[in-house]
Amino acid sequence: MENSYEALRLILDSITDHIVVIDNMGTIQYANKSWAVFGKDNACSVGDHWQGINYIDECNKAAAMGDGFGKQAKNGILKVINKEESEFYFEYPCHSPDEKRWFMMRVTTLELKSKAYFVISHQNITERKLAEEEVRNLARLDGLTDIPNRRAFDEFLHNEWRRCARLQKPISLAIVDLDHFKLLNDIYGHQSGDDCLVRIGTLLKEFASRPGDICARYGGEEFALVWGDTSLAQAKQLSNKLLKQILALHIGNSDSPIDKYLTASVGLAEMIPNTGTGEGALINKADLMLYKAKDRGRNRVES
Ligand code: GH3
Ligand code: MG
Ligand code: MG
Repeated sequence: MENSYEALRLILDSITDHIVVIDNMGTIQYANKSWAVFGKDNACSVGDHWQGINYIDECNKAAAMGDGFGKQAKNGILKVINKEESEFYFEYPCHSPDEKRWFMMRVTTLELKSKAYFVISHQNITERKLAEEEVRNLARLDGLTDIPNRRAFDEFLHNEWRRCARLQKPISLAIVDLDHFKLLNDIYGHQSGDDCLVRIGTLLKEFASRPGDICARYGGEEFALVWGDTSLAQAKQLSNKLLKQILALHIGNSDSPIDKYLTASVGLAEMIPNTGTGEGALINKADLMLYKAKDRGRNRVES
């Protein structure tokens, strides 16, 4: 194949990665076609005239506008220029108003006629990032009800507990156990039981709408709700409303001695977290209250 500047330029322009070459002052010496096209598509005023623009200044401008990744990029480039690192690599989000996007940036050294240059390439890694996000989400959702699973619940409660400890705010936990669910399964079949669990899960989502809230499938026919920065009085109101709405779903449970429709019991606990105890104390209290609710006749909230 022809060994010419023209041939090499065409090859570099055919690559989808955005590539620039800078000198040791950060001045752009070369930009490939993908680089220029990406700039134009993202309302960058430079157009095709990237040569002579200082890349590090551009990172500084981004950092000054609050882009933490601009600062990280600049620091990484300087480390390679100053020979502290032979290569720099990092992944960063670069979302447009209507699209989620991630890029991987790589900086490597290039020696040309005993002068050092630095190749910076940006590769679009959105597909991989979205797939990773999907896997993470799936691992945190209960397969049947599509609400957070026990693992997601544990993590959330741990973090919310610490947040409420810092703010010295109360945190409430409700454990919701369906009453005589075994009877429902026995009469209507396991598939109907599953359908009920899905309906309860959908209802619970409405009770966990703020950032400090979560609803989760705690296990089997048990669910849990965390309400951050929520007093016991507020949590009681929410729990009673929930029990009313569960009954109002009119899910038949004809053999239940409580009601002809499915009911549930709630064990409720509230604490203002202190440094001495973990969230386990809150779970134990709510568990104890659930036993009490079952003991005292079910279809009730005990706190
Ligand atoms: P209690 O009022 O004391 O809570 O009575 P219960 O029958 O609800 O409680 P028990 O612990 O005796 O039985 C729980 C039932 O929940 C038995 C089990 O088969 C059913 N169950 C647990 N997970 C699932 C599930 O994923 N799908 C269905 N259909 N049933 C489930
Ligand atoms: Mg149970
Ligand atoms: Mg039960």
